[in-house]
Amino acid sequence: MRIYNAARCLVGALLFPQSCVVCGAWVVNPQFSPLCRTCLDNLETHQYPTCHYCGLGLPGSLSDLDCVCALCRAGERSFDWARSTGPYEGKLRDVIRKFKFDGFRRLAYPLARRLANEYSFHRGPFTADSLVPVPLHRRRKRERGFDQTLALARILGSQLGLPVLRAVRRVRYTAPQFGLDRLERTKNVRGAFKISCDERVAGRRPLLVDDVMTTGATVSEICSLLRKEGHAQEIMVLTVARAQLFRDGF
Ligand SMILES: [Zn+2]
Ligand SMILES: [Zn+2]
Repeated sequence: MRIYNAARCLVGALLFPQSCVVCGAWVVNPQFSPLCRTCLDNLETHQYPTCHYCGLGLPGSLSDLDCVCALCRAGERSFDWARSTGPYEGKLRDVIRKFKFDGFRRLAYPLARRLANEYSFHRGPFTADSLVPVPLHRRRKRERGFDQTLALARILGSQLGLPVLRAVRRVRYTAPQFGLDRLERTKNVRGAFKISCDERVAGRRPLLVDDVMTTGATVSEICSLLRKEGHAQEIMVLTVARAQLFRDGF
């Protein structure tokens, strides 16, 4: 099998030569994803302890276990657990932007692998029974050409053996959150989502999947909906990256 995979890689690389989106090196890997092994292994990870509940990086804290951010202390969260694979900066941010905006769809494979590792190693007492992707509006999907969060969720679902439930619909086209502060972001997404009638989450423990979490306004809106209208039992959130709010001025 190993010889077969190696041969498949080589044939793929010869037929579809491509270079790494980060360093430009020639890439040979089983998923034909444009990210070399060295860059994949060196993508940013959290350098600070993270909040026990929401995963926010907290410089100055001594350990993950007793570290809880001010928002979680104030009880302002609508999910039970949230984690990300690293900060939204450097190469990790470049790779996410290439994936979302520049059409490098096969980056979904290495990014989903990071999500799977983060979930498996840090989920603690929480166990998801399904995945729910943060939905894209139809118009945004047309503009972008694909639904990046659904792509991530589908690969992650096959890696973790969990079903993907499209339990939430985006019913209102919203302006991009970029450049808005925390309050504006919350207002921007209020009422933008509805629970879908097709995929029910009542009594389930969904893991909400997204690419980037910034202030958490989108995630909070969806989690509140999943809990209040969808009657989900426990809600977890997993994102590829997390904005470092202390650095970005939110
Ligand atoms: Zn590279
Ligand atoms: Zn927190």
